[in-house]
Amino acid sequence: MIAISGLTKRYGDVLAADDVTLDVPAGSVCGLLGRNGAGKTTTFKCLLGFARPEAGTVRFDGAPLTPLTFARIGYAPERPALYNWMTVAQHVELARRTQPAYDEAFARELLATFRLDGRKKAGKLSKGQQTALALIVAVAHRPSILILDEPASGLDPVMQRVVLDLLIDAATNGAAILLSSHQIGQVDRAADRVAIMRDGQIVLAGELDALRESSRVVEATFEREVPDLGGLDAEMRIERVGTSVRAHANGRADAVVARFGALGALGVRVLDRSLEDLFLDTVDDGGTH
Ligand code: ATP
Repeated sequence: MIAISGLTKRYGDVLAADDVTLDVPAGSVCGLLGRNGAGKTTTFKCLLGFARPEAGTVRFDGAPLTPLTFARIGYAPERPALYNWMTVAQHVELARRTQPAYDEAFARELLATFRLDGRKKAGKLSKGQQTALALIVAVAHRPSILILDEPASGLDPVMQRVVLDLLIDAATNGAAILLSSHQIGQVDRAADRVAIMRDGQIVLAGELDALRESSRVVEATFEREVPDLGGLDAEMRIERVGTSVRAHANGRADAVVARFGALGALGVRVLDRSLEDLFLDTVDDGGTH
């Protein structure tokens, strides 16, 4: 598993990672979300020793990062790190020579799936094809830890689906996967947990199902006017519009439904919030950034 504790990285005046604490257990896909500049790539760089944090610890399966850990890690950076003058086949060969656990048959299968021509030079590949090649190089040794910075960016919808299925498969086989993405639909499909960053900090993290459950909204309509809600305003965020009221129920949707019923609501319904709603609520800063 990946265990990050108190990770802090400053670039001049910018706290790019501010006391980041996050666990990704084996068998789990964690989606790291956040607006541009929130600190996702910085966190990844610190995890892998490419940037030196001022504070904090990172453990992989309980042990700190050493050169040997890289045999168990697959990393795809935000911009594919490829050699333009080398062919696709040469990249795969390089990975085979540097990764003891390299699975040649799996790499060949992936090349075919992504329809990559082994003879083509990396510099001549399209953006999406370069992303795919970088991903193949990152996963062909079947690592138990995957750290992927926007792994499906630039891929067409069919290939995005292939990548997500690949990740779900790896997690089913016990890998711990941390990926960042701006495509919330991708995270929604592949991840079972999510962490949202804002200004270097993790502002919301947890299992997706539990977060969805706790973010439900209860909407009720009353005949004339919204009655006194008996202290509900102090317990949760309440919005009133005319004769309707919406309560952000903080995981207590059933109790709030019962309460509105007892107050004589004409109609009560529970609204599920999508991951996108949750993200937008969480990173909303009133347009000041
Ligand atoms: P994006 O979604 O745009 O990729 P991100 O969440 O990955 O963004 P980071 O790249 O981690 O964001 O950047 C976090 C903050 O740190 C930003 O304010 C950025 O300008 C700053 N930063 C990142 N790398 C450096 C660097 N090498 N030198 C100075 N500042 C940096």
